This record gives sequence, C-alpha cells and structure tokens, in this order.
Amino acid sequence: MLNLKQDFQKLPSHFYRDVELGGFTAPQLLLLNEELCLELGIDLSNLSQEEISHYFTGNKLFQNSKPIATAYAGHQFGYFNPQLGDGRAALLGEVEYQNQLYEVQLKGSGPTAFSRRGDGMSSLGPVIREFLVSEAMNILSVPTTRALAACLTGDPVYRESELAGGVFTRVATSHIRIGTFQYFFSLNDFDAIKHLTDFCINRHYPHIENNEHKYLEFLKSVFKKQAQLVAKWMSLGFIHGVMNTDNMTISGETIDYGPCAFMDQFQMDKSYSYVDREGRYAFSNQPKILQWNLARLADCFLSLVDTDQEKSLAILNEELSKISGYFQESYELEMSKKLGFQTIPNNFSILLNQLINTLDTTKSDYTNFFLSLEKDEDNSFTKEWKKVLSSENITTEEAIRRMAETNPAVIPRNHKVEEVIKKSYQGDFEPFKKFHEILKNPFNRDHLAQNSDFCKPPTKEQVVQNTFCGT
Ligand code: AMP
Ligand code: MG
Repeated sequence: MLNLKQDFQKLPSHFYRDVELGGFTAPQLLLLNEELCLELGIDLSNLSQEEISHYFTGNKLFQNSKPIATAYAGHQFGYFNPQLGDGRAALLGEVEYQNQLYEVQLKGSGPTAFSRRGDGMSSLGPVIREFLVSEAMNILSVPTTRALAACLTGDPVYRESELAGGVFTRVATSHIRIGTFQYFFSLNDFDAIKHLTDFCINRHYPHIENNEHKYLEFLKSVFKKQAQLVAKWMSLGFIHGVMNTDNMTISGETIDYGPCAFMDQFQMDKSYSYVDREGRYAFSNQPKILQWNLARLADCFLSLVDTDQEKSLAILNEELSKISGYFQESYELEMSKKLGFQTIPNNFSILLNQLINTLDTTKSDYTNFFLSLEKDEDNSFTKEWKKVLSSENITTEEAIRRMAETNPAVIPRNHKVEEVIKKSYQGDFEPFKKFHEILKNPFNRDHLAQNSDFCKPPTKEQVVQNTFCGT
C-alpha cells in the first residue's frame, strides 16, 4: 500500500486548489513500473490489478491522500500567461524513500480549478508516449520525471475524434517549475516567492540551506542543473519541443513529453512540434532558450538578491552570463564520452566541430552515427578522431569499449512510438510492453540483430514529420 505524505500542502493554501477525483467507468491497468516501485520502496503486492487501476486513475484514494492541483504561470512560446496551473494533473502526495520525497501525480484524471476550457483528460496516446520516453531518458542517465503506471479509464475523450482515455502516473522529486515562481511574481507576492524558494532549497538543494546569499545560490544551483540537463538532451539528439517556462523544473528533471522527439537524421535546426512553426524550440535553439527561460526565473528574484535593484540586476546578469559556459562544459563532457574519452581532451572544440560538420554533410542518423564508429571504418572524421584518441593515449579498442556503454543502440524513435500507440488504440498493448522491455537495455548491441526494427531509422514512408501535444 502507498502511505503518502502531504508535504506540498504545508505550503500556503493559495499555492494550490483541492481536486475531486473519481468516476471513471472501467479502469484497467496497462503497465505498472515494477522497477520504479522497487527503487522507491513501493509495495503494491497486496492489491489486485483492478484495485491498482482504481488507485492510479483516482477512482480510489491512497491513505492520507488529499489530491491537489498546483498553481503556476508561464511563458508559452514567449508570451506570458499569468494563470496556467495543473489543468489535467492531480498531486496525490509524496512517497518518502531514503530521505528524499517523490511526488506522485496523476495526469489525465479529470478537471481541476485550472482546467480553463480543457477537459482535464488525456487520451491514451500521450500516456504511452510519456511512459516510454521518460523511462528511456532515465535509463540513458538523463534526469527526468518517471513513469509509475499507465491506465485506461474505460471512458472516451473527445479530440479530433473519439479516443480511449488514459491516466498516466508520474513521479518527480517535485513538479515545481520556473512558472511556479512566475505565478507569484506576477502577483507581486514576494512572501510566496521566499516561501517557495525555501521549500525548493529544502527539497532539492539542502546544502545551501544556511548560505547567507541563499537566493543567489539557489539560482546558481538551478542554472547549473538545467545547463547539465540540456547538455544531456543535446548529446542524445533529444528535442524537447515545448520548452515553455512552465515546462522547466527547478529540480532539473525533464518534464512534459508532449511533442518531444529524438532526432533521426541529423539536422541542426530540426523541429518536430506542429505548434512550433517558427522553430523557437528547434534542436540547436535549446541552449539559447534555456538561457532565456532562466532569465525569467531570475526576474522573480530582482528584489530579493539585493535591496538595491541596480546592484541586484548587475549580480543577476553576471550569473546569467555564466550559463552558456556551464552548458558548453557539460556538453563537451557528454560529447567526449560519446567518442570514448573519459575527460574532455585538449582542443576538443575542433574535433566537435568536425563531428557536427560530418553529421551535417552526410545527413547521418544521429544515434546510429556513433554506432558506426564502433565498426572502426576509416573516413575523414575517424582519422581526426583517432589522432585525438592517440594524443590522449587511448586505443581505439578502449574507446569503443567505453562507447558501447554510452551510446544507445535503441532509443524511442518517433515512428516506433507512433506505431505502438496505434496498436494500443486498436486494443493490442503487447507492442507497448515489448518496446518498454527493449528500452530497459538500450546499450545492448544484441538489439541490432534481434530487434533491428527498433534500431533502424525510419524509411521515407515511416518518417513522422510532426509531433502533436495531442492531449
Ligand atoms: P502543457 O502542454 O502540458 O505544457 O500544458 C499547458 C497548460 O495547459 C497547463 O496548464 C495544462 O494543465 C493545460 N492543459 C493541457 N491539456 C489540458 C486538458 N486536456 N485539460 C485541461 N488543461 C489542460
Ligand atoms: Mg506542461
């Protein structure tokens, strides 16, 4: 059974609204993440599948659970919306494991005070997409929200057509976003910002609790965490697709897997999201957008960092100017690991440029390009690469051994995710479960022969041109 804490609810009552859950006709558990249950000490063994499906759709409430929807604002595609909030999500409470709290949240469980014109529901497709992609990210060492359960509700939702409804159970150290700070900033509620900062420091950055410049230290910590995160995305060819400030967490965990995609064929300015027509969130723009988003977080602290606003502005600008450096260092480290180095080699930026140029001119599949290096073939890039390896006293064999533990053979390619979603809508959930199993071991080279279908880039007919939030 899950004995949940109600830690977020210790915050003042205007941080959230109560939510009424329940009323789905015939919930059905599609997948419970047994590994995550083990990792968090969650034992549901005394519950039947049917009972679990009632709990993870909100039909039944776990002990002590008082579901809430949290308030937040956010810049969506550059435009500020002062009132967003959990319109289709409900926070059930927190699981405590080894002194860390993990929020358990239902997504698609029905309307809340923040639903605006939405129905608070989710169709099955986004549930499956988020389950597969967030778990793949986790196993690829990318900080992320996790997938605990996927359920069918038994009731339809109405989008362009009638679709099966689903509820996704998400776990995160917190779901607090840049937009949560912006919500209170737009209300000039600086007490709330102080309160929220203390809460976030306690939850995510306890080492700065007693720092005399805690607001500044807090910002620096978030800047570094987010820069590391986006560096990991870039190294994997991951395009988030909707980097609005309400979709960027304070913890540095990836959140919101709406229109995201892993890039197949390399293209610097690639974007998939149907709603991102101008490519604001295109692959190569992600580090810049990160800086913009973090500047919006910094805005909220202008009167808190120093009582003298001008001084405060200078301090914040100084810290903001360091973000590109944090990003570059993390990115170079991630990319050097992909090429078999343990640390960033001397003059790595030259090799990195050659790599990007090669990817660009050959229009290679991003993921498989790194696998092709394992074949030890000679071409103009591998010649340069081997020169740098040898100048670092690393043999090609040694590099290839390390690369086999860094570069995935299988990722949740968009066309495969779409295929699995299509099957699920037809009532066949086996492909979803199989894909989840395969993604548990993304580095296993046996997949290349045994599950080659999942490793190959899409054919012309299979290419997914656009992704949709679809919620
Ligand atoms: P997102 O696309 O997840 O970043 O969502 C942006 C905002 O729209 C958030 O406030 C969501 O809660 C809200 N939202 C998205 N889909 C729905 C829905 N089906 N019902 C109610 N609110 C929604
Ligand atoms: Mg969101």
